[in-house]
Amino acid sequence: MEIIQDKQTLQELLEGWRHHNDHVALVPTMGNLHDGHLSLVDLAREHAERVIVTVYVNPTQFGEEEDIDEYPRTMERDTRRLKKIGADVLFAPDDDTIYPFGIEEATVVSVPGLTQNFCGASRPGHFDGVTSVIARLFALMQPDVAVFGQKDYQQQLIIRHMTEDLSLPIRIITAPTVREDDGLAKSSRNQYLSDEERTVAPKLFQVLDAIGHDLQNGKRNFEELEKRAAKELKAAGFQPEYVAVRRAQNLAPPDRDCDEIVVLAAAVLGKARLIDNVVVTI
Ligand code: AMP
Repeated sequence: MEIIQDKQTLQELLEGWRHHNDHVALVPTMGNLHDGHLSLVDLAREHAERVIVTVYVNPTQFGEEEDIDEYPRTMERDTRRLKKIGADVLFAPDDDTIYPFGIEEATVVSVPGLTQNFCGASRPGHFDGVTSVIARLFALMQPDVAVFGQKDYQQQLIIRHMTEDLSLPIRIITAPTVREDDGLAKSSRNQYLSDEERTVAPKLFQVLDAIGHDLQNGKRNFEELEKRAAKELKAAGFQPEYVAVRRAQNLAPPDRDCDEIVVLAAAVLGKARLIDNVVVTI
């Protein structure tokens, strides 16, 4: 596996691959890799001869009250894991490589609408940071496919929207959420949970999964289901930010005939802000 930090080395390598008609898959991450990230790499491998994983802690997606310096950086361990799983390249650029004019002068790519609610409401500007950095990675690498996790449901929907809206010739693939044995979605943030909070954390998935089953059993009282779940989360010790039953396709409120539904939630437990979702066909 090659570790690359600069644009030119990356471009030369990509040129060589293209010469051989190799397809390229991109897996963007912020590092601190766990099995969820690695599953994205495995899936990428099924769609392309070459897989690039980026590890870049993108400053523009952190809010003013979020501390980017505290974000865990585990480059040595990440490198070992990526080598073992067979990624072709680990691209770990610095801020000047990604934002050559500096952050203040950087072009912003912003998707209206889809970014306004849910995680966009509680983290203003977050999704503009995400789309701006992903657009930059897409432009740098021009991959054939890019893989994102369903864990960040709203994020992958926004990236799909951006890609289609800008007619970028990149296929977006969404990978299923990898979970711990007790159902908790794997996340770098789980390490902020105390032992006691860790025993409570799987409740988030349990309440979403329960709504999924209720929907599949014919329940259509969407608002009541949302309220019940928020109440259950509170009783368990979470501070729920939102629990929402929405159309999977575009996060609009569902009507009774809607067939694909996503149930998504964010909730704070101790120091960790956890998100999760389930998608059901009804
Ligand atoms: P991050 O490094 O947190 O920005 O995540 C990088 C990518 O990994 C994103 O596309 C996430 O949706 C995805 N991801 C994070 N956690 C999981 C998980 N538990 N299962 C599958 N994908 C995940």
